Amino acid sequence: EPAQSSALAPAVVLTIAGFDPSSGAGITADLKVFAACQLYGVSAVTALTVQSTQGVLRSQPVDSALLGETLRCLQQDLPIAGVKIGMLGSGENVATVAAWLRDFSFPRERVVLDPVLRSSSGRDLLDASGQTLLREQLLPQTGWITPNLDELAALTGLPVTNREQMRAAAEALAATAGLRVAATGGHLDPPDDLLATPEGEAQWFPGRHLATRATHGTGCAFSSALLCRLVLGDSAEAAVAAAKQYVKEAMEAAYPIGRGRGPMHHLY
Ligand code: PLP
Repeated sequence: EPAQSSALAPAVVLTIAGFDPSSGAGITADLKVFAACQLYGVSAVTALTVQSTQGVLRSQPVDSALLGETLRCLQQDLPIAGVKIGMLGSGENVATVAAWLRDFSFPRERVVLDPVLRSSSGRDLLDASGQTLLREQLLPQTGWITPNLDELAALTGLPVTNREQMRAAAEALAATAGLRVAATGGHLDPPDDLLATPEGEAQWFPGRHLATRATHGTGCAFSSALLCRLVLGDSAEAAVAAAKQYVKEAMEAAYPIGRGRGPMHHLY
């Protein structure tokens, strides 16, 4: 049978990420963002976490063969227009996703990687060998990466504690990996984001500190909203600005659920 496609059907976007049972981060958050952006979201689970608004207690990667089968099963059925990659959980999963993107010749500019290395509560979510595989095998398949300050430091080996260092590290990563770096400065004051391109351009996106505890999953939501805007046809600059605006509004509209860092509200 021919694949269903019509002008009325929304584009299909895929999140490859971890499962947060409290729906603040990971797959469940990504799917809410996709729905809020009026796209059709599908998902492949890389890891189960035991987690609430108070933090991650435990993480268990899924079998990489199961992940690979899921990716191939979705790909042969659905016209995937864009891929967001979040927590991968194991080096085997990093290699599986990289091989799938390569086999599928998926266009790099429609792949957004959120390099999830540890939770805000301090739990490591990808070990050192997994981080090496991410740099060596996954970055060449990726057109966009959305590191926070700590992730930028880990990926480049450079210190990243202020704006100048953030800019230097983002520019270095963009040049060496040949991709766009949308670095999130949520831990800067003011919390400005930065877009650095492989062509050596850099642009700041000003932010304002928000008095809210609803910061759980902000990195997940930023990368998912960025992918949606790219799939919907925005330019690089417009997509970063829209993703930043999305996260700001979702944080402002958040409600107090849970004892910890509560979830954002995704505005449908
Ligand atoms: N759990 C999953 C599945 C994630 O993908 C992430 C981050 O991307 C986290 C937990 C950590 O989220 P946070 O840093 O907001 O605690």
